[in-house]
Amino acid sequence: MFNNDNDILYYKGMSMIKRLYKQLYNAFGPQHWWPAETSFEVVVGAILTQNTSWKNVEKAIECLKERKLLDVDAMYKTKLKIIKECVKPAGFYNQKAERLKLFVEHVVKNYDGNLNEMLEKDVEELRKELLSLKGIGKETADSILLYAANKPVFVIDAYTKRICKRMGISQSDDYEELRALFEKNLNPEQYNEMHALLVELAKRYCKKKPLCDICVVSKLCKKQVI
Ligand code: SF4
Repeated sequence: MFNNDNDILYYKGMSMIKRLYKQLYNAFGPQHWWPAETSFEVVVGAILTQNTSWKNVEKAIECLKERKLLDVDAMYKTKLKIIKECVKPAGFYNQKAERLKLFVEHVVKNYDGNLNEMLEKDVEELRKELLSLKGIGKETADSILLYAANKPVFVIDAYTKRICKRMGISQSDDYEELRALFEKNLNPEQYNEMHALLVELAKRYCKKKPLCDICVVSKLCKKQVI
């Protein structure tokens, strides 16, 4: 938020995305994403969070943890039926359990079960490989690249598109176009934090029905109706 003339001078010449990053970081602080203990937990969360809220994903992850299935080898050896039972709270559980199984099968067959070996690959090669797996689209692949493999890739989701349109940053729905825009305007070290900050903004203020009057980036925003 612009509080005084010094703020206005400080932000002068900075791109809208850079300003947004600064203001969100000042307002919300570090987000400590992704909420997971291991790379495999990030992968599982990224697959399970498709079309559902994180609260539901947490319940599914809790069950997988209790049954000691948050491990490539353990999940590979476990019957699909058991995985389905556990991931039920995350919705679309047949589909999601199958996707998890396909993922661990891929890691076992191609990397002898060593997920880190897979994640260490070159970013473009790994992105192509992830996208070739059934049920892994761009948002899921890029979440895995950024949060499990620590690669410099920005993740675009529905929240980002909504915020970009309302703020007047971009009206595009094109995933690659938006990804390139954020990657051009931020440092790679900021990708992790910015995605998490945008999710927080969407949850707190830029909801389906926006709370512009109390929003922390209100002065920066064009508040376009979408
Ligand atoms: S001011 Fe309104 S439209 Fe803009 S980011 Fe905040 S809530 Fe969304």
